[in-house]
Amino acid sequence: MPGLPTSDVLARRHQRLRRAIEALGVDALVVTAPANIRYLANHVGTAGTLVMTQGGAHLLVDFRYQEAVRSVQVSEAACPGLRVWPVPASYDEALASTLVELGTVTAGIEALNLTVARHEWLLRVLASRGSGITLRSTERVVEQLRLVKDPCEVVALRHAAERVSAVASEAFAAVRAGVTEREVAAVIEGALRSAGYERPAFDTIVASGPHSALPHHRAGSRTLAAGDLVVLDFGGFLDGYCSDLTRTVSVGQPSLEARRLHGAVRDAQAAAIAAVRPGVAATAVDFAARQVLVAHGLDEAFGHGTGHGLGLDVHEEPRVSQPRPDVPPTLLEPGMVFTIEPGAYLAGFGGVRIEDDVLVTEAGCEVLTSVPRDLRVCG
Ligand code: ZN
Ligand code: ZN
Repeated sequence: MPGLPTSDVLARRHQRLRRAIEALGVDALVVTAPANIRYLANHVGTAGTLVMTQGGAHLLVDFRYQEAVRSVQVSEAACPGLRVWPVPASYDEALASTLVELGTVTAGIEALNLTVARHEWLLRVLASRGSGITLRSTERVVEQLRLVKDPCEVVALRHAAERVSAVASEAFAAVRAGVTEREVAAVIEGALRSAGYERPAFDTIVASGPHSALPHHRAGSRTLAAGDLVVLDFGGFLDGYCSDLTRTVSVGQPSLEARRLHGAVRDAQAAAIAAVRPGVAATAVDFAARQVLVAHGLDEAFGHGTGHGLGLDVHEEPRVSQPRPDVPPTLLEPGMVFTIEPGAYLAGFGGVRIEDDVLVTEAGCEVLTSVPRDLRVCG
């Protein structure tokens, strides 16, 4: 199966997970987050539940995916120790039966990915079967393993990042006065597909003029006009991995204020990239960007974190943001991949964000996305 990690990679992931399961004092971990299931079992379907125990990997899948699982299992990407449990009707019914049949005493569940309704239903059904199984909430167990990428994931992320340059060129060519944000977004999404991505990794952002001051504006019916700043934020999904890039361009000649804003954000991003190396806290990378914007009097204009982890999900760990008392700081390690995307937003005027994807290396970091960061004049 091209594009999927081999069995020995999965075996190492299972080994690390089983140590974590033992430390939690549970005898099974019920994995329901799709990216976690893919990470552990090479199951790429949109439905499935995985029960990891010390002895095996139990994948519950319905009819739609059974053939796909069989074809992975006869390839070099087969999941070690996999047992497939057919799901005839309801996933939760099948999960309750599997846990009972495996003789589970305490099962960990992914609290961030199981609704209260499903949790209560499971408790009721397990109790009605007289099983005595206890469910225990866990958080970020598989996500911790995913924090440092395997060499094969680094290759996949590099491929995903490389292709984004071609998409950026098409995006820049599409920006001019008279076209709408949605038309530019359509060009970007077409370019993502022609560049070989399976699909956009998230909803493309084209935020023009005053909209560029709204960090999560999507793409609307506004028509671009001369002098607008336009924030273009897009990425593609390829072989399971995401890329994520932002550039801010000007429609025609930018004003002095637009140049000043862009220069400040570019300096902030450069400072954050320079701060990345093993042993440094992710919060220190955020601080490096923030300090530059504060020096430009833009502390109030930067209202989001500096970056986020990138991998099977477009937003994952580590968080590259200000310290929070309830979250222990992440110290950077070689193999971590995240975005660096400071921004400055002035309500009514416009905003600038510049985003690249970086890989932490032994010496510092490697920027995976290579698109010029100067304020490009389009149209
Ligand atoms: Zn982005
Ligand atoms: Zn991002």
